[in-house]
Amino acid sequence: MSNDIGIDLGTTTIMVYKKGKGIVYNEPSVIAFDKKTGEVIAFGNKAKEMLGRNPNTIEVIKPLENGVISNFSATEQLLRCILKKVVGNSLFSPNIMICVPSRVTEVEKNAVMDAAEASGGKRVYLIEEPVAAALGAGINIFQKQGHLIVDIGGGTTDIAVISEGTSIVKSSINIAGNTFDDAIKNMLFRRFKLQIGDTTAQKIKEKIGGCISIEDEETMVVSGKNSDTGFPMTILLDYIEVVDILEPLVLKIANEIKIILEKTPPEFLEDIENNGITLTGGGSLLYGLDKLIEKNTGISTHVAEGALACVAIGTGKAIENIHDINFKENATRYFDMSSMRKNYFRGNNNEQNKKKNIWSFNEIICWKRIWRN
Ligand code: ADP
Ligand code: MG
Repeated sequence: MSNDIGIDLGTTTIMVYKKGKGIVYNEPSVIAFDKKTGEVIAFGNKAKEMLGRNPNTIEVIKPLENGVISNFSATEQLLRCILKKVVGNSLFSPNIMICVPSRVTEVEKNAVMDAAEASGGKRVYLIEEPVAAALGAGINIFQKQGHLIVDIGGGTTDIAVISEGTSIVKSSINIAGNTFDDAIKNMLFRRFKLQIGDTTAQKIKEKIGGCISIEDEETMVVSGKNSDTGFPMTILLDYIEVVDILEPLVLKIANEIKIILEKTPPEFLEDIENNGITLTGGGSLLYGLDKLIEKNTGISTHVAEGALACVAIGTGKAIENIHDINFKENATRYFDMSSMRKNYFRGNNNEQNKKKNIWSFNEIICWKRIWRN
């Protein structure tokens, strides 16, 4: 019996995929502490509810905002709380595959692995975000073919060309879902002196947000605070006003995709034209985003099914198939290569596995920790 898990340590949402069960945890990346004692008071949904309305004695933190680990010890504690919740006191310690935001440093990766180990992980692995996203989107990433995958999360948009289980070229920009919210907030402030919170901005984006003009334009009643008077204020917002500010931002993402295409080796370009661009992540759900990117790059573009969960599912698929890795052999090899405990190595694609011609997960670039004994 194993209860291996895959974790998408997203900047907005953390999801956990359990072997054989699917997504078992799906809550915001938020944690709340008692300021005096430092004790964790709440995490996930409960902590998010406290944001902005917490008493002075409680500190509410989004430790992974903007695609980096801005508060490491809070991230670590959040991970521990989640693992405790999903693994509990099970007799079997799980193997854990983690997908960290693409901008996390080596030191932070190491510390995330430490935290996962300390929380009861048997063996802990890391997987590259675009690889996990592609796996979760149902792309056969082990072919020689090139696939272009764009993951638009809350803090960052990660663009990568993937072939044979690894990314050939990639880039990360910080225009993503949260940028859309901020742009909406700023526009309302400039045009109407209307102040709104993050949640309202997000609602506007999801309800009438978009980046292409349409015929049946919707409107939405938006309430907030007049910044001059401090009194409550309500306006009627037109769809086109949102498009005016979101279109340029999506065009910046399209531009970055074009830059990646320019850097892509020619042998993969034809594949990408044939396979199209795959979008994942919550940000890709913005109305018209796929169409605008398609129009600008000239390459057919589609949002993957279940875009929000692709990374978590991909991470889960990787851990489910971890035994396809020629474990023992690699383990010995890894061990021989370095006597240092803290080291990461690439899953190796050795000849024996090539011969087996399995849907070989050892071609994925995973980082494996050398276990202690
Ligand atoms: P991360 O990987 O950073 O945790 P996610 O992939 O979960 O991020 O995406 C979060 C972003 O997606 C947020 O900015 C959120 O507002 C946005 N989002 C979620 N659902 C929608 C939707 N239906 N329309 C537009 N944006 C959405
Ligand atoms: Mg993500």
